[in-house]
Amino acid sequence: MKLRYISVLAGLLLSAVIFTGHLLFSNHVIRAGFSALERQHVLGALDSTRHELQNRLDQLNDTVNDWATWDDTYAYVRDRNSEYRDSNLLDETFEALGLCAIIIRDSDDQAVFARAMSSRERNEPELLTELLRITGGILPAIKGDRGGRGGIVYVGGEYHLVSLRPILTSEGLGPPRGTMAMVRIITPEMVEAIGRGVGHPVRLIPPGEGATADDEETVADAGEAAVVGIAPLRTLDGTSGSIRVTVNRDMTAYGDKVATYNSVGIALAMILLCLGAYLLLHFKVFRRLESLDAQIAAIRRNPDSGTAVAVRGTDEIAALAGSFNSLLAEIDRSHRDQLAQAAEIASSERFLHQVLDSLSVGILLIRPSDRTIIAANRHALAMAGRGREEVVGKICHRLTCPAQIDQCPILDRRQPEDLSRRELLTASGGTIPIMKSVAYVDRNGERLLLETIVDISEIERSRRELEKIKEGLEATVAARTSELAKANQDLIVLDKAKTLFLSSASHELRTPLTSILGFVKLMERRFSNSFAPILEEYAPLSPRVRQFAENMAIVRSEAERLGRLVNDLLDLNKIESDSMEWRDEPLDMATLLTSAAEVFAGQEAEKPEVALVVDPAPAGLTIVADADRIQQVLINLLNNAFKFTQQGEVRLSVVRDGDFARFRVRDTGRGIPAEDVEQVFDIFYQVWDENLRNSHQFGTGLGLAICRQIVSHYGGVIRVESELGVGSTFLFTIPLMQPEDA
Ligand code: ADP
Repeated sequence: MKLRYISVLAGLLLSAVIFTGHLLFSNHVIRAGFSALERQHVLGALDSTRHELQNRLDQLNDTVNDWATWDDTYAYVRDRNSEYRDSNLLDETFEALGLCAIIIRDSDDQAVFARAMSSRERNEPELLTELLRITGGILPAIKGDRGGRGGIVYVGGEYHLVSLRPILTSEGLGPPRGTMAMVRIITPEMVEAIGRGVGHPVRLIPPGEGATADDEETVADAGEAAVVGIAPLRTLDGTSGSIRVTVNRDMTAYGDKVATYNSVGIALAMILLCLGAYLLLHFKVFRRLESLDAQIAAIRRNPDSGTAVAVRGTDEIAALAGSFNSLLAEIDRSHRDQLAQAAEIASSERFLHQVLDSLSVGILLIRPSDRTIIAANRHALAMAGRGREEVVGKICHRLTCPAQIDQCPILDRRQPEDLSRRELLTASGGTIPIMKSVAYVDRNGERLLLETIVDISEIERSRRELEKIKEGLEATVAARTSELAKANQDLIVLDKAKTLFLSSASHELRTPLTSILGFVKLMERRFSNSFAPILEEYAPLSPRVRQFAENMAIVRSEAERLGRLVNDLLDLNKIESDSMEWRDEPLDMATLLTSAAEVFAGQEAEKPEVALVVDPAPAGLTIVADADRIQQVLINLLNNAFKFTQQGEVRLSVVRDGDFARFRVRDTGRGIPAEDVEQVFDIFYQVWDENLRNSHQFGTGLGLAICRQIVSHYGGVIRVESELGVGSTFLFTIPLMQPEDA
């Protein structure tokens, strides 16, 4: 339903509800209010009526009071003089005072004077009898009461006002000599006058015709135009009539008018309000919404007509239009993005197809539900030698792994993936070996199988060839191994021969060498002592003599060197062939250093420019080793240090380095070139030195090699730090004695 109709319906419904509510309000509140007001008014009228009657009774009371408290009346009761009666109780008095009866009694309640008269023809004796009855016997009750008693009586078909007063002196003194009662008829004229005073017609209803004395005041309808109020009217003798006041229904009519005008006013206001609201909605909402709808429909019909709607104003509809424009812009942007994305996807799909087709492995895409090949790349088709239509749409077992029907590792054996050797059925009916890997892939929420197949015929051929080569190689290796084993055997034999040769050659060399050295020294000594002085006297021979002496010295020096070489070789050989005898014992460092230093005690005399400094060894440092071998290392290092140092000092020290004793021999000599540092511990390695070459200090090149063998034997390490022209520091470590060695 259109919003416009809904709002009209809503307006009508709202009006109906408001109008009904108003009617209920009119009936139950306005009209009921006026009704209550009317009732109050009637009750007020009854009250006024009673007041009016009381006023008249009060007037009568005053009159009686005047007469009863008059000395003449007082005297009359006592002496009953006719003068008083004849001059006062005349017909004129009755008329002037508007009375219908006067009754005077003495203190014994005997009527002294009693007369009743009526302007209308009525039976006075009967009236008097009734009045005498009603007013009799009252004196005892009002004796002390100067006020007397008054009220209404209904006698002879008419209501009367009756007032009784005690008869006193003019000063109001007693004792009361009797009572005086005056009676006045409530004539229709008086009732009419009361009605005028009240403002509404009043009627006094005789006893027995209306409400009794016990009745409450009641208000009752009296036709459409009037309402009556009835109140009880009690008489002195206990009978009860009622007062009836008739009130026009002006107030109710006014209330009805007010309610009606009100309803009409409300209805008119509602109509005007609804009309105004409708017009407001029409111009401010419906028309603009319809315009918005028309513009949106136009954009929908022709999306190129624009990307915005126009609605004036700053309210919610304008805001809605603004939001709609933003949404349109957003949709437009996202549409363009989608187009760009779609183009990108299409391009990447093309690229993917190109990539797949250019791959040199076969790719198959399989739908697991019916095991159908749904895509194949160019290489897969080429491998199978088939066209695309022969492959796509076919069951995968017809192409790959023909022998594996119902044995598919993925679909039948529920493996998550598979990598195995299979066979591809070619168009010619043959098979080619392939390596196939299969895994699940997801395409737009659909799980597919991606098979990658690689032709491994070449690899298998190569593998077969390799196996052949391997077999050949294995044969060759076996042959070579047996040859090497034989060569090794020969080497061991040779090594043994070398060791034997070295040891026996060294031993054999040592004996003649000792003799040579002994004889050379003897010859040298004899020559220098005996022949040289004689021969030098002969001048022509003197250069030859010096030459001879020098040659002798060279022979000695070389023989000595040969001796050292033989000794060193023997030592090295012993260590290498494991035939060295190691006499290990706990060694104290201080003793070791001292005895090594002692060897060089005479060194200062020979080379005073180089001082030997021995740092004190820390107490308690003990190693377990052969003292001679450790001495041999220290002496070798010290010897080298002195040999290669021309000035400065040679310092010997030992310190603790963890579980090792670290020995250090430092000199301030020529140092070792960086390129030679690594090799100085090799056998026969010597740094080239022209000066030493021909000196007696020319070594064997075996000292440091022996040092390394000895240090290694004990599980230590020897190394050198050196700087050319500054000096060298040789460091080696030997494990400290452990408690379990003690
Ligand atoms: P050699 O008998 O020649 O001294 P070594 O094996 O003891 O044989 O030493 C090898 C070479 O190392 C030496 O020839 C020498 O050139 C070098 N060398 C050893 N100690 C020192 C040192 N303290 N200062 C300089 N060069 C040294």
